[in-house]
Amino acid sequence: MNKIKILGSGSSGNCYSLNVDNEILLLDLGFNYKKILEFVNYELDKVVGALVTHEHKDHSKAVEEIANNGIDVYATQGTFESLDIQNHRTNIIKANKPCLIGNFTILPFMVEHDAVEPVGFLVKHKSIGSLLYITDTYYVKYKFNKINHILVECNYSKQIIDETLKDKMFLRNRIVESHFELNNVIDFLKASDLSVLKTLTLIHLSSSNSDEKLFKSEVEKAIGHPVEIAKKDLEIYL
Ligand SMILES: [Zn+2]
Ligand SMILES: [Zn+2]
Repeated sequence: MNKIKILGSGSSGNCYSLNVDNEILLLDLGFNYKKILEFVNYELDKVVGALVTHEHKDHSKAVEEIANNGIDVYATQGTFESLDIQNHRTNIIKANKPCLIGNFTILPFMVEHDAVEPVGFLVKHKSIGSLLYITDTYYVKYKFNKINHILVECNYSKQIIDETLKDKMFLRNRIVESHFELNNVIDFLKASDLSVLKTLTLIHLSSSNSDEKLFKSEVEKAIGHPVEIAKKDLEIYL
C-alpha cells in the first residue's frame, strides 16, 4: 500500500517517508540515525534518497550519518555549506530545477525562512500523482494547482501567539518571520485549485502556539475537505 509515514513533525524533529511501490523517499532527517533506521524497518536498500529542506537541526540531524551509510541526500548548496558536510552521497539541488530520484520526480522551490537556502518540494510519481511538501516558511509565493496530496506547515495562530508571547516580542517576531500562520495557510490553500486533492496534512504545529482541533476545523471549513494533523506514527494512505 502506498503511504506517507510520519516519524515526527515539529520543532523536536521532522522526518516523513513516502513509501511508493517498492521505494522509500525520505523527507527531512531531523532525528538520529538509529530512529530513522528503525522507521524504515531497517530496509535501507529500499531508500532511494532523502530530501532535506534546510539546515536547522529539527530537519537535518542525521544528514551525515545517512550519507555515510550509502543513502543519497539532496539539499541546496546553502544547506550543505551551513551544515559543513562534504560526502560523495551529497547531491546539490537547485530551486526550479527538476531532478529524478528512483521513480520520483522532484521539483525544489524557494521558501521564506530564517535559513541560508531553504526549499520546499513538489514530488511527482506515476503511482501517486503529485505531492507538495512545504515546511518552515512564513509565506509561499507560488501557486500550486491540481495537487493530489499536500503536507503543509501550520505552525501557529496569530491570536494564540499574541497571547502566549506578549512579553517576548523578540521570539514572537522571529516566529512570525519564519513560520506559516494558520490564516496564511488558509489563504495559500484557497488560492490553489484543490479540485483533485486527495489528502491534506497539517505539519510542524508549534507545541505552545497552536491548537490541533481548532486548526483542523478552521482549515476543513475553509477548503471543504478533510484534514489530518501530523503526529508520530500516523500513516496516510495515498
Ligand atoms: Zn522546523
Ligand atoms: Zn527551520
